Amino acid sequence: MSLLEVKDLTVTHRGKPIVDGVDFELNRGESLALAGESGCGKTTTALALMKMLPEGLKQKGGIVLRPPGVEDPINVHRRTETGMQVVRWRHISLVFQGAMNALDPVQHIDDQIGEVIRLHERKVTGKQVKARIDDLLVTVGLTAKLGKRYPHQLSGGQRQRVMIALALACRPSLVIADEPTTALDVVMQAQVLQLLESLREELDLSLILISHDLGVLAETCDRIAVMYAGRIVEIGSVETVFSNPQHPYTKRLLDSLPVIGGRRGLAPPIPGGPPDPGDPPGGCAFHPRCPYSTDRCLEDPPPVEVGPDHLAACHFSPWSSWPEVEPQKVRVDA
Ligand code: SF4
Repeated sequence: MSLLEVKDLTVTHRGKPIVDGVDFELNRGESLALAGESGCGKTTTALALMKMLPEGLKQKGGIVLRPPGVEDPINVHRRTETGMQVVRWRHISLVFQGAMNALDPVQHIDDQIGEVIRLHERKVTGKQVKARIDDLLVTVGLTAKLGKRYPHQLSGGQRQRVMIALALACRPSLVIADEPTTALDVVMQAQVLQLLESLREELDLSLILISHDLGVLAETCDRIAVMYAGRIVEIGSVETVFSNPQHPYTKRLLDSLPVIGGRRGLAPPIPGGPPDPGDPPGGCAFHPRCPYSTDRCLEDPPPVEVGPDHLAACHFSPWSSWPEVEPQKVRVDA
């Protein structure tokens, strides 16, 4: 049985969907990538899983969590705010985007981690909390003495590691990491990714990794869900989706990745920009930018199975080959 089951998750703003009917499952120990351009609904999906949406956004749809050792499944969607306070950080936690902004600038690191532990485990002693904090800092590759510093006294990579330590503080079974490497240089990026990967194995964690960087996701995840205009347009194993993409948007994203040793020159861009999340074009939301669109694309394409555990929402999937297209062909009339 899966650790997390998300069914028909929809988030609306003033009645308009910005996440629209998202379905996926995540097994214990598995890592799922959420990919797509900015504004496609990745972070909103993550916040909805935690029931932490900003004011003005409403969510509906099923979110069921089955943490190991917990007898009854946790129906996140039915929990009140008070009910969610015992779920967040204890069973499901989030590594926020932008470590500098997410940490409290006027609290020592060990006070911030300790607060999370004490809030969720009332019977824990001060000595135990201190030992846990030291352990956590060492687990994420820092030294215990860094706990006595303020966030501004740490480097970007160290702050990101502290964010991961915070997310692990109550030993959750699911961690969501939202763009955990975006603000880091490539060396630090590699170290943070390696850390997430090794922690996943060591602690038997499940991981949802959000990024617009497909290279980062390919290295770290088992499965990938590609989002566009609030929907999952393709989902499957990383190996399958990268070697045999079945949605034109995924194909274009992959084509825009640089190839080491490949032909020099700019990678082909995806023309146009993502649609307004609350007001996507009718039919297939990708049709104004899709080089293969036809009149049929003015109807909504349902997700279809294009292989084992591989779904794509395109009228013409499965694609046996990709026709050549003029680089800048884009419909702007719809
Ligand atoms: Fe492109 Fe049409 Fe497929 Fe949408 S349904 S991705 S517009 S070919």
